Amino acid sequence: MLERDPSCDDDFDSASLSADEALARILEHVPVVRGVERLHLRAALGRVLAEAVDSPVDVPQHTNSAMDGYAVRAADLPATGTTRLEVIGSAFAGKPCGVPLAPGGAVRIMTGAAMPDGADTVVMQEHVRRDGDVIELDGGHKRGQNVRAAGEDLARGDLVLDQGHVIGPAELGLIASLGIGEVSVHRRVRVAYFSTGDELRSIGETLGAGDIYDSNRYTLYGMLDAMGAEIIDMGVVRDRRDAVEAALREAADLADLVITSGGVSVGEADYIKEVLAAIGEVRFWKVAMKPGRPLAFGTLGQARFFGLPGNPVSVMVTFSQFVAPALRRMAGGRQQVALEIRARATTPLKKRPGRMEFQRGILGRGDDGQLEVTPTGDQGSGILHSMSRADCFIVLAVDNDGISAGDEVVVQPFLGRL
Ligand code: AMP
Ligand code: MG
Repeated sequence: MLERDPSCDDDFDSASLSADEALARILEHVPVVRGVERLHLRAALGRVLAEAVDSPVDVPQHTNSAMDGYAVRAADLPATGTTRLEVIGSAFAGKPCGVPLAPGGAVRIMTGAAMPDGADTVVMQEHVRRDGDVIELDGGHKRGQNVRAAGEDLARGDLVLDQGHVIGPAELGLIASLGIGEVSVHRRVRVAYFSTGDELRSIGETLGAGDIYDSNRYTLYGMLDAMGAEIIDMGVVRDRRDAVEAALREAADLADLVITSGGVSVGEADYIKEVLAAIGEVRFWKVAMKPGRPLAFGTLGQARFFGLPGNPVSVMVTFSQFVAPALRRMAGGRQQVALEIRARATTPLKKRPGRMEFQRGILGRGDDGQLEVTPTGDQGSGILHSMSRADCFIVLAVDNDGISAGDEVVVQPFLGRL
């Protein structure tokens, strides 16, 4: 791995890693957290299955009707002409008929009702003429039509959900449909984070000359919470070696993943780098991306570590591209393909070759119905409201040297609460 000082002044840099390469290296070095919890179904929403779910039953449990109509015996259906059958009873969902169907009979049946013994076919009510207790029907029906066979959806013992599957609303319903009330899930990933910087003040404190309020701990909180992490907010740590060392040691003891922001660019990174060199195994990378070039990743004790840049937009971009996939893996989940779509740029986009860029954009539709994307304006990495206004990243490839209005660009829509 590369261990070079990051810097921000040049766009072309042979020592830079591509974003893809950085992500691949990161994913090689993140383990799934150990520990499984058994939870009530609803409490498992958003969690990752630690064990596969197999079906304890046939779904559907009973062979049943897919239509409102009449359950009949296929042998009674006429090949040509018409036939008359006597209606001997009815079957409702949850209220079976109870009487077996003898030749020459039919049972009035509703969608979801169990098929009476002896019946194998359902004729839709629209295809039948009813006259008192007798129905008349034509030919042209097929044996077995409009019938859902027991176990046709899932047979007892079938794999329903594999481990690593995230439990969303569909999974809650699916698991409930099997009568299962508890599942085994991975424990949540514990993430400790702090901000570094002498200029940072917390809400409620007065700003002195050159001070700013710490916003990174809030964006990190939001992104981590949306990913279902267990959160340990360690506040602001001053740019002092002993303070940084104490905070990093404490964080590594508490958490599976430690995230810091700030202090990874040249000149300011000194304490963090010094301390990390002493107590961890951490690489400083220049990633050929904008924003977010300087990035530290490695191991601190038992924990994994991300040192994100300080600029608020850089924090969100690097989180989305590197921390989120790592966290998903640590949580036991499967990797998701980054969702990328194409949209037409409504304005020119400035870009110099050398780094992959994540500009902030707003998706819409043109008069012709095609997807369009408009940049949020000033793309400075400190301009957090560009993220707030955006609903996607416009991803421009390393070699790209600018976009004209009307050109197609690649867009990553924000999913969840980025
Ligand atoms: P650094 O990476 O420490 O050089 O910080 C880069 C820029 O991000 C500087 O302008 C910092 O003041 C700003 N910054 C660093 N940390 C934070 C934070 N937690 N909240 C808001 N801005 C920050
Ligand atoms: Mg700083």
